[in-house]
Amino acid sequence: MGFFKDMAAMFKKRELLFISSSKEAEDIYTFIFEKHSDLTWQAGQYGLFSITHRKVKNPTKPFSIASAPSENVIRLTMRIGDHPSEFKKAMLELKQGMTIKMSGSVGAFSMQDNSPSLLIAGGIGITPIRSIVKQIESEGSQSGQPIHLLYLDSGQSFPYKEELDSISSRTAIQVTYLSSREDLNQEIDQFASQYKDSGKYFVAGPKAMVESITDYLQKNGIPKGNIKKDAFFGY
Ligand SMILES: Cc1cc2nc3c(=O)[nH]c(=O)nc-3n(C[C@H](O)[C@H](O)[C@H](O)COP(=O)(O)OP(=O)(O)OC[C@H]3O[C@@H](n4cnc5c(N)ncnc54)[C@H](O)[C@@H]3O)c2cc1C
Repeated sequence: MGFFKDMAAMFKKRELLFISSSKEAEDIYTFIFEKHSDLTWQAGQYGLFSITHRKVKNPTKPFSIASAPSENVIRLTMRIGDHPSEFKKAMLELKQGMTIKMSGSVGAFSMQDNSPSLLIAGGIGITPIRSIVKQIESEGSQSGQPIHLLYLDSGQSFPYKEELDSISSRTAIQVTYLSSREDLNQEIDQFASQYKDSGKYFVAGPKAMVESITDYLQKNGIPKGNIKKDAFFGY
C-alpha cells in the first residue's frame, strides 16, 4: 500500500464491537471483534486501536491484525504481563457489547508467494504471520513455491502452535519451532544456501529481535531488498 493510501486509511476511524477474549498462553491474550463488511486489509497489515470506554494514558496503540481477510473477524493477540499498562488493563475489561476504535489498516508487511519464502516470527511477532499463513491456507498457494515458517520462542509457549500444525498438515507450508538463536541461525543458513538470491525473508517481532535477525541475514549476504521487516516497538 502506498503512503497516500495509508494516510487516507489512518483518517478513517471505525468502531469495533467486542465479541470475546481468550488466553492463548502464559501472558498472551486474544481479543475478537466484529468485522464491518466494508473493512478490508492485506494479510500482515496492522491497525491503530484506541480505548474509548474510559480515559487511559496512551489510549491508541498499533497492533497487527492477526486474522486473515478471509476470516470474518478482527483478531488481536497481545502480550500482557503481570504489570499491564493502562491500555492493556482496559483491554482485559472489555465485555460483550463494548467497543474500541480502529483506524487503518496500514503497512507493507505483506507477502507475494512467487518466491521461496522464509517467514521468521520472534515471539509475539507470530501475529502478522498467522494472518499471512491463514490467507495462504484459504486461497491456496498460487505458485507452488516453498514457504517455511521459523517460529522462535525462547519461552517455548508458541501461541497458535496447534493451529499452525494443522495448517501445515493441510498445505505445503513447513513450520519449525525453535527456542534458541543458534538453532534459528542454522535454519536460516540452510534456507539461504538452498535458495540463494531467489529467497525472500519476512521477519516480525519485537524491534531489537527483528534488527538483530536482519543484521544476521545481511551479514550472510542476503540483499536488503529481499528482506521485509515488521518491528514491534514497545517491547
Ligand atoms: C506495527 C506494529 C505492530 C504491533 N503488533 C503487536 C501485536 O500484534 N501484539 C502485541 O502484543 N504488540 C504489538 N505491537 C506492540 C504494541 O503496539 C505495544 O507497543 C506493546 O504491546 C507494548 O504495549 P504496552 O501497553 O504493554 O506497553 P507500554 O505502555 O509501552 O509499557 C511498557 C511496559 O511498561 C510497564 N507499564 C506501562 N504502564 C504501566 C502501568 N500503568 N502500571 C504498571 N506497569 C506499566 C508494563 O510492564 C509494560 O509492559 C506492535 C507494534 C507495532 C509498531
